[in-house]
Order: sequence, then C-alpha cells, then structure tokens
Amino acid sequence: MKFYSLNGKSPSVSFKDALIRGLAPDKGLYFPEKIKKLSDDFIKNIENHSNEEIAYECINQFVGQDIPELDLKKIIDEVLSFDFPLVKLNNQISFLELFHGPTMAFKDVGARFMARCLAYFLKNQDESKSVTVLVATSGDTGGAVASGFYKVKGIKVVILYPKGKVSNVQEKQLTTLGENITALEVDGTFDDCQAMVKTAFLDKDLLNKIRLTSANSINIGRWLPQMFYFFFSYRDLKPSTEDKVAYSVPSGNFGNICAGMLAKEMGLPINKFIASNNINDVVNRYLNTKIYDSKPSIQTISNAMDVGDPSNFVRISNIYKNDFNSIKENLHTCSFTDDETVDGIKELINKFNYIPDPHGAVGYLGVNDFLKSYPDYKCIILETAHPAKFSEIISLYTNSLELPSQISSVMDKKKESVNIDSYLAFKNYLLNS
Ligand SMILES: *Cc1c(COP(=O)(O)O)cnc(C)c1O
Repeated sequence: MKFYSLNGKSPSVSFKDALIRGLAPDKGLYFPEKIKKLSDDFIKNIENHSNEEIAYECINQFVGQDIPELDLKKIIDEVLSFDFPLVKLNNQISFLELFHGPTMAFKDVGARFMARCLAYFLKNQDESKSVTVLVATSGDTGGAVASGFYKVKGIKVVILYPKGKVSNVQEKQLTTLGENITALEVDGTFDDCQAMVKTAFLDKDLLNKIRLTSANSINIGRWLPQMFYFFFSYRDLKPSTEDKVAYSVPSGNFGNICAGMLAKEMGLPINKFIASNNINDVVNRYLNTKIYDSKPSIQTISNAMDVGDPSNFVRISNIYKNDFNSIKENLHTCSFTDDETVDGIKELINKFNYIPDPHGAVGYLGVNDFLKSYPDYKCIILETAHPAKFSEIISLYTNSLELPSQISSVMDKKKESVNIDSYLAFKNYLLNS
C-alpha cells in the first residue's frame, strides 16, 4: 500500500517510508491511496474473532509487503497485551475503557505499534546508525511514547516537556525510565517545546550529523492502529441489525475519531460519530458556521484536548471528499466548559457509580447532547485515560479513586531530567549525548 501526501506536492511512499518520515516533505499528512472494505462475512462473524485476529485483518492492507505476515502478527500480539473492556452504564450507553495499558491512556496502542514497526525497519542497521525520536509533549503523548519505545534497540527517545506544566503522574512517567529515554525539561511552554522540535527538523547541520524522526500523533504508525478500538467494541456491544450505533470520542487532534471513520469506510456499520470537545471547539464552530477559524488553545481540565487547530481534520475532510454536508451528516459535534465537565463527572459518580476521567466525562456529556436529537441510538463513549491520572480533580468528588499499580509504581521512582533553556542548548544536547 502506498501513502500520498494530502498537500499533493510530494511523491507517494510505502508504509515504511511514511512511518519513518512522519510528515511528507511538503508538510502534508500521509493518507492511504486505497481503503479496501473488509468482507461482509468477517464483519457479520466478528464475535468469533480475537483482538489479535481483528487487528491483523484491519491493518494488514495498509502495511502490505513492508512487514511479512508472521512478523506483523508478532508485533500485534505484543502491542495488544492488555484489555479493552466495554463497561455498560445502562442499555443505551457504554464506556470503552482504553486505559488499561502501561501509561493508562489510549495513546499506548499507537505508540507501541509505531515503536515496534520502527524497530523492525531498523533492525538490520548497525548501532552507530541509531535513530533519535523527538517528541514534544503537553502530557500524555510523552509517557506513551517513552513507554512504547523503552529498551527498543537502535532508537533513542528525547522528550521535551514544559517545566511545571505537566501533572505529577505525567512527569514521573516521562522522567523515571532511563535506558534509551531522556526527558528534557524546558523552561517555557508546550509551544516552545514544539518549536524546538520543528527547528531541529529544519537544522541542516544537525540533520547531517544525526538521524531524526518524530513520533507525534499524525504519524500513520500511531494513527492507523486506533481503528482497532472501534472493531473490538462493536464486537463486544453485539448490536442487532436494527440497532443504530454512535461513538462519542473526546477529541483534541481528532486522530482517534478519524480512525473510527476509517473503520467505517472499511465496512464497520457505525451510524454516527460524536466529537466531544472542551471549549477548544474549532470543528464544532465550523460545522455550525461553515467557517474554519482556528484559535490558540485554551487551557482546560481535559488538557489532552486543548488543541486550537486539530491536525487530523484534513484527514476527516478527505474521507468525506471535502464535502461539508457529508461531514455534517456523519459527525455530531458539541463543546463543554470545565464547569459542565465537573457536572458530568459528578453525575457519572452519583448516578452510575462510575468514576470517569475529565476526558471521558466530556464524552458522556456529548452522548447526552446527541441523544436529545437521536433518542434511539446505542452509544459507546471512548474513555481515553484512567481517572487516577487526574486525581487532583477527580478525588474532589469521590473517596473511592484507587491508584493502579502502573501509576503507584512510578510515583516512588526518582525523576531524572536535563534542563534546557534554549534551542542551542537542545542542539548541543543532541550532538553530544
Ligand atoms: C490525546 C488524548 C485525547 C485526544 O485524542 P485525539 O486523537 O488527539 O483527538 C483525548 N483524551 C486523552 C486522555 C488523550 O490523551
């Protein structure tokens, strides 16, 4: 399978090259040239298939010849080594818990898949040619990437995070692994971190000396495997043929929801998508006004969705042939303030005895809004992080929040980071480490 650039000014490349490059040279996102439907038989009998079988069936057309069947199956087995339970609130609404992986955010699957594919592509290279993965993080991405690439041979990971601006748990997840993972603590904001990474990718002097790649969320290695969630949960929901199904996805960069749309293109019978947003709501405003007006992001309690200009929206437009009405037909959007999010957290705890994280609570509010117009739907909410990752907020409303072992085990470990205050310091670090 080839991937083309959505900016249309770079040649199409293989899965391998798209994964290694991340972004096309013309700065466009890569998109598959063809999306082949899975057989009706497979979808009809999906309950007879394991997670691993479903994942292979879904992704194999995109990977193509670049990774042989047995190696790809082994990668999938390693990536999917935890559960994706569907928890029913009532007959109509369920939570799909995507937080049972090592860093307790849904980004684990994409990060682990990308890491293993990259390791596969690099495995025959000698050590001196190791690749450095750069990633700027405002929270969850860094931890998932660090854990996904931990001890992967031939790859060094350098994470930049803004000093004092990530949660306690998130900082520990970034700074306590050691081995091939280094955390750089940047005196600045997330935007400063991201700017340094971008500068590095344009720095010819640096690029002549070391091999760099990026592991941000637009990489196809992180984006594509997210479609698995929709297939697994559809199987577990067991809808009848008359049931109409909607997915509510707490959305920031719109990668996760866009992977659901890809699943639908491949034949999974999903009727509607609900993009549940905090007040960073450019897509919601677009669908109401036809004007796409991106803004700088505003900080909220669902911080992984504080995105002013979602990078995956171009993929969504492309799936729906850039047709406004067709996007609007498939996608219900809504946006909620932090006060409303807190009300959602309280309602879930008090009415359903379910402890959500702030992102899942926004997803729940999205379903409530949607059901007002579409009362006969069955809805699945993607619960994208474990509530204990946001214990500062969630423990205000319940005494029953427990720290899972994935989190308690990092909290006692010693933080190790390198302080960075300028691009020059960053570059020197890369050249001398
Ligand atoms: C990254 C993230 C999101 C947003 O996902 P997108 O694919 O960027 O829309 C939502 N919730 C959590 C907890 C996240 O870490």
